[in-house]
Amino acid sequence: MKAVRLHSYHQPPRLQEVPEPQARGPHDVVVRVGGAGLCRTDLHIRDGWFAPAVPTELPITLGHENSGWVHEIGSAVENVAVGDAVICHPQQSCGVCPACRIGDDMRCARGLRFTGLTRDGGFAELFATTDRAVLPLPEGLRPADVAPHADAGLTVMHVVRKAVPLLGPGTRVVVVGIGGLGHIGVQCLRALTAAEVIAVDRDPDALKLATGVGAHHVVPADAHQVERVRALTGGDGAQVVIDFVARGTPWPPPSAWCAPAARTSWWVTAASCGFPPSPWCCRRSASSATPWVRTTTCASSWPSRRPARCRCTRAATRSTPSPTRWPTSSRAASTAGAYSCPDGR
Ligand SMILES: [Zn+2]
Ligand SMILES: [Zn+2]
Repeated sequence: MKAVRLHSYHQPPRLQEVPEPQARGPHDVVVRVGGAGLCRTDLHIRDGWFAPAVPTELPITLGHENSGWVHEIGSAVENVAVGDAVICHPQQSCGVCPACRIGDDMRCARGLRFTGLTRDGGFAELFATTDRAVLPLPEGLRPADVAPHADAGLTVMHVVRKAVPLLGPGTRVVVVGIGGLGHIGVQCLRALTAAEVIAVDRDPDALKLATGVGAHHVVPADAHQVERVRALTGGDGAQVVIDFVARGTPWPPPSAWCAPAARTSWWVTAASCGFPPSPWCCRRSASSATPWVRTTTCASSWPSRRPARCRCTRAATRSTPSPTRWPTSSRAASTAGAYSCPDGR
């Protein structure tokens, strides 16, 4: 079969012929790819950003935003059948370790088994995953139309759910950047909260898209966006600002946007802050007086950052499981900072 393989960092991947994967284990699922999203993370992988934290043996087939149809299943697979349309979570977790049992699959005891990063991904005709990592699609959904939700949608859902408790009736939320994540963010906010949604972007077409997907207000990012947001909110500012750009953009500090009662104002960055975390991102998080949340795409919260000396398993039981339709939910650290052991070790 054909596959797009990365042979060395900083070099373009190559299209080549490789053997087809097979369902060798009882829980294996081989998926015939119907859609595979190209993500900025793929460019970071190509450039070796993750190599220090996530050693990967090259070559590897890229592609972590995958959907398609079940092609072959192992003997113990019960949740899907051959021919089912599925979307595929990138982390192939075990499902039975303490972390997996509370939905913290990114910290699965088996480690990071991430499609397109540590194992072959979906830039191919077929790829191998597991039953826990596939979710059947409802009737009428075409795999190619939803593939990016395997990461872009998951990331946005993750961050918006964190903000939901702060966004009751009468609140406002600013969404910075109406791109691949932001336009999903507007829709998640409209579906999950009662907040007034204010979309900010430099591109007039992006603002048109924001209106089309449900933003109550759109504001051009023309250096006067803070004043415009303040005018739209009667001078109060927003309760939450979600930044879907978070890189290389001199956006105003959180305090400029957020409501005066800082304790109820959150600055949420939903884009990857890169690995190693960029000084811009971390300086901001460290200096911000407001609570700060980042999402699973931030490599700083990945399992490899958990101190090796920590063997505490209570970490896995201290949090409330998150309800989710996904078979797994990658709950990252809820505030800035590294993993902290509940036993203080
Ligand atoms: Zn992605
Ligand atoms: Zn696990």
